[in-house]
Amino acid sequence: MADIRFDGKVAIVTGAGGGLGRQHALELARRGAKVVVNDLGGSMDGSGGSSEAAQKVVDEIKALGGEAIANGSSVTDDAGVALMIKQAMDTWGRIDILIANAGILRDKTLTKMELADFELVMQVHVFGTFKPIKAVWDIMKAQNYGRIVVTTSSSGMYGNFGQSNYGAAKMAVLGLMNTLKLEGAKNDVKINAISPVAATRMTEGLMPPEVLAKLAPEYVTPGVVYLCSDEAPTGAILTAGAGAFALSRIYETEGVYLGEGGLSAEEVRDSWGQITAEDGQKAYFNGGEQGQKFFRKMAGG
Ligand code: NAD
Repeated sequence: MADIRFDGKVAIVTGAGGGLGRQHALELARRGAKVVVNDLGGSMDGSGGSSEAAQKVVDEIKALGGEAIANGSSVTDDAGVALMIKQAMDTWGRIDILIANAGILRDKTLTKMELADFELVMQVHVFGTFKPIKAVWDIMKAQNYGRIVVTTSSSGMYGNFGQSNYGAAKMAVLGLMNTLKLEGAKNDVKINAISPVAATRMTEGLMPPEVLAKLAPEYVTPGVVYLCSDEAPTGAILTAGAGAFALSRIYETEGVYLGEGGLSAEEVRDSWGQITAEDGQKAYFNGGEQGQKFFRKMAGG
């Protein structure tokens, strides 16, 4: 098969001033995309900001012969997001790809977590994913083409001590994806999620240097590039790190039909083995499929 190319395509990568986003932006540009490099340039906990981070990556792309423009807005800021879209449309007239990658951490156990720590993390990851998607959505639908990648995490899908804010936010973007994959299907707007593991400032200090050396962001980017390509699936959660790739899915067990009326908590307790039995478990593509199973079981199927 032919190489994956993005000639004539326009991409926006949020949080692309460093870490994973920078790598995604460089690789898209290397494969022909024109790229808006967005980054607030703040610290890891979301404080401060400068447009220098984005501009540096733009300079790198230009030095490699690519085309890019910088945007130093916060993905949470309505005017900043609108400006980012305007920059892309005024300069290149279309937007084909959006990688919602920007992120921060405010790790604390729940006992120590202030509401502000929860709110800011939700703002950056959830609203900071939603707002750019909302801003490009009708453009992509009108041109009958779009590729969107949201960034989730094993912390959301499986849990991680001290990350209740981050974990909640990272699952929220999957909920967003699950509905938008349905709403975008008619217009070839595909949306997928990347669940990365990489050595960036977010993970430095969490693992020994020899482990971090094997986790360069470059190992995640090929997965993201595929999810941005014409052949991309939709609604997939691709996990990537250290050169390993896998799919994460939510499965539902076949379960049990206990009948209608007069049901007791004890019957649920006593059926726990059948409810949790893994034989025949399935991953559904939409919520309606689960409902169909209930009715099938009710009818004795
Ligand atoms: P990073 O800190 O190097 O990169 C995040 C970038 O987002 C930074 O350059 C930062 O300036 C930018 N940013 C933060 N808030 C912003 C805002 N409001 N507006 C615009 N830009 C903003 O960390 P990274 O590891 O490259 O993280 C990239 C994404 O991958 C994040 O969404 C993160 O949660 C996710 N992730 C990373 C890992 C990992 O192992 N590194 C694991 C799971 C998920």
